[in-house]
Amino acid sequence: MANCSDLMQKLRPCLATLKPYVAGKGFTEISRKYGLKPEEIVKLGSNENPYGPSPRVAEALRSISPERYPEPEDLMAGLAGYTGYPEEMIVIGSGMDGVMDTLTRLFLEKGDKTAIFTPTFSYYEILTVTAGATPVFLPRGPEFQISTDVPKDAKMVFICSPNNPTGNVTPKEDVRAVVESTDCIVFLDEAYVEFADHSLIGLVKEYENLIVGRTMSKAFGLAGMRLGYAAVPQWIADQYRRVAPPFFGITCASVAAGVAALSDLEFMRRSVEKICAERERLQKEIRSYPSQANFFCIETAKTSHEFVEKFLERGVIIRDCRSFRGAGEHHVRVTVGTPEENDRLLSAFREICA
Ligand code: PMP
Repeated sequence: MANCSDLMQKLRPCLATLKPYVAGKGFTEISRKYGLKPEEIVKLGSNENPYGPSPRVAEALRSISPERYPEPEDLMAGLAGYTGYPEEMIVIGSGMDGVMDTLTRLFLEKGDKTAIFTPTFSYYEILTVTAGATPVFLPRGPEFQISTDVPKDAKMVFICSPNNPTGNVTPKEDVRAVVESTDCIVFLDEAYVEFADHSLIGLVKEYENLIVGRTMSKAFGLAGMRLGYAAVPQWIADQYRRVAPPFFGITCASVAAGVAALSDLEFMRRSVEKICAERERLQKEIRSYPSQANFFCIETAKTSHEFVEKFLERGVIIRDCRSFRGAGEHHVRVTVGTPEENDRLLSAFREICA
């Protein structure tokens, strides 16, 4: 009978360096650890939208047919309307994570390199390594800006704007400089773009090597539905369909929710306005880096671990950035919540930093 340590030898050696993705802490974990009731906890560690989706979503979910496989047509039409791109230039997946997963399956294999500007969203590294490719880490500057000097031998470049966890955006000229200076595939991650001044999605029609990834998880309040998409050059959309999982990883529920949310842009825009106004209010009192997202990043005098613990003890979940490669030991990320949640954050902040 085979034993587990022999069987472990079958694992692909390239995976040896991978650590599991670290998500923000949840209600259950913190309520057990600190003996708090879940309703006493304020969750500002996962960049979720506290207003949730349009009420039309709950209504739409009542009439799905779970016995049927999902049909993407209405969703594609909704995304075309929202982005201004024809359906032939849109791809969908199970969250933007699912979209990136399919894209890296298209492009990356052993021996390839990707360029990743750290600190940033850690899934780019996980995808690179699971493809057998090698990430090249390019540290961001003092204001977290990227260098446009990307290694010529990189096959894919990941630019996150607004960047998670720092909140800053990459200027249009810098994105153009990267796209024009290489023939690699540039993935511009705009997961948080609805909270920013503007999007660069319009650049996709100008270049054959630029992809702009988007998600329904943040501004549209559908994180639990796992629905993402990207605007891509048509040649990439055609190839995407060859390697995507059946039904693109979407579900009847995610399609119904996505279509309903896209039919009520006014609801989404109102949530975004409230969140941006609260971001300004919090940043007046809490000194942070500038942000164009629904979160902001703070540099801490104490270690981020000690700092975050003090908030957790008080039932306020914020994110220790140590799990972001290159973020060091002194950065934390705070998601903007409702005014009441933010008041809880502020009173904890006043006690801890007094
Ligand atoms: N990109 C960034 C920068 C993110 O922060 C996230 C969510 N944590 C994603 C992509 C993935 O989003 P989704 O929920 O659509 O998979």
